[in-house]
Amino acid sequence: MLNSPEILFAVQAVREAALLVRRVQREMVGEALSKEDRSPVTVADFAAQAVVALRLDEQLPGSTLIAEESAEELRHEEGAATLDQVTQFVRDAIPGATSDEVCSLIDRGCGDPPSTFWTLDPIDGTKGFLRRDQYAIALGLIRNGRVELGVLGCPELADARRPELGGSGSLVLAIRGHGVRTQPLENGGDWRPLAVSSRWKPSEARLLRSVEKAHTNTDEIGELVVKLGVAAAPVAMDSQAKYAVLAAGEGDVLLRLLSPSRPDYREKIWDQAAGSIVVTEAGGRVTDLDGQPLDFSHGRTLARNRGILATNGHLHEALLAGLRTLGD
Ligand code: AMP
Ligand code: MG
Repeated sequence: MLNSPEILFAVQAVREAALLVRRVQREMVGEALSKEDRSPVTVADFAAQAVVALRLDEQLPGSTLIAEESAEELRHEEGAATLDQVTQFVRDAIPGATSDEVCSLIDRGCGDPPSTFWTLDPIDGTKGFLRRDQYAIALGLIRNGRVELGVLGCPELADARRPELGGSGSLVLAIRGHGVRTQPLENGGDWRPLAVSSRWKPSEARLLRSVEKAHTNTDEIGELVVKLGVAAAPVAMDSQAKYAVLAAGEGDVLLRLLSPSRPDYREKIWDQAAGSIVVTEAGGRVTDLDGQPLDFSHGRTLARNRGILATNGHLHEALLAGLRTLGD
């Protein structure tokens, strides 16, 4: 089963993209990088998307990719220097690639999804990448609105559970009906199964949330912590690495509440596809904040869902009940 063409493609493409992104970070994120300079993440984002699009074309021709980036800004004059850098890095994977070829590969990710497609976040947690903290490469296969397969590349996570900067990283693979496994990102090796925790008391729950206040509602998370008597402070972590940590049983609850600055925000499919199947295949549960299942059949966003609640399953109902009381 681990040898199906879809799984071989997804594992190999995420590993290759993750190692490329790591190399961009090592070469471009120097000590002198100013807070405003986003160029390393821009270069890494585009290069990773181009490489995954190329491998998809080679290994599963005719497949559709829906991904975060478009090459439009690279085609303009102001994008020329960035495009040059992206092309240099992509040449590792495609010797002799031209800038035009790189742009067309990136643009394979634009457009509206058909019933079966792959969705990619080339770098999820861009702020984490720039801070040299957690980030992830996330790839999912969607069929008829349901995630069938998900792969997360987490370069700064050891054993899918522990932050470890500069280590061998973790690759996490979830297959619908066949569980979730991890292996070292850098050199591969044995696959080890992951399973969620068995904690069921809200007071003992370990909560995971975004670092960025603009991506969640930290005041409401604080209110929930008090209402449910949760003893430990929530752990802040960037990217879908949070879902890997939950699947590995190192966290029990993951909350994406709606930020007060963007109350109408709808989640992007590439931010939730791989992460959600990683948690459900480890025995956990993932819904929106109203307890509804995630519906991936409405274009590039989860248009019919509001926020995300992911748990080990045992704590799900208690968290939903707590969410209903917010603001009371
Ligand atoms: P995190 O690492 O948990 O902060 O999540 C990162 C993802 O949040 C990014 O990939 C963005 O697509 C997404 N994002 C951007 N704006 C918002 C928002 N207002 N609310 C929730 N998520 C957002
Ligand atoms: Mg993202």
